[in-house]
Amino acid sequence: MAVLAPELLEKLACPACEHRPPLRLQGDYLLCDSCQRAYPIRDGIPVLLVEEAVPAETIPTAQESQS
Ligand SMILES: [Zn+2]
Repeated sequence: MAVLAPELLEKLACPACEHRPPLRLQGDYLLCDSCQRAYPIRDGIPVLLVEEAVPAETIPTAQESQS
């Protein structure tokens, strides 16, 4: 599970959405609730690239990653 500073997290926004919605941390991904894209966090660095994003339904949920 990736750890991001809250002040960093609140500055991040989805690059795919016009209105730049905030992202939600889920496991090792940052999730956009607006377009349902999940951006990977690699070595603690969020990769906010549309071409690197995966569909939100393909990443493990918080519950699954704890087991
Ligand atoms: Zn989005």
